[in-house]
Amino acid sequence: MTPLPKKKISKSRGRKRLATKLYKFPNLVKCQNCGKLITPHVMCPYCGTYNKLTIFKPKEEVKVTKVNKKEEGKTDES
Ligand SMILES: [Zn+2]
Repeated sequence: MTPLPKKKISKSRGRKRLATKLYKFPNLVKCQNCGKLITPHVMCPYCGTYNKLTIFKPKEEVKVTKVNKKEEGKTDES
């Protein structure tokens, strides 16, 4: 038989424990190139640079059109 917990952990106690784990804001750092907030040790999704090296050049026209379409749809629904 596998080892089992001795007592049941109540809903409130388990949720209290989870509350400390779940609600953490992501650690964000300013991009050295464009200055936007990005996750550290990850390539910037906005300008496509990592450690001052350009990995890709983002297609700004495509991104802008997608965002505008989504925003328009949201405004229409609300
Ligand atoms: Zn950037």
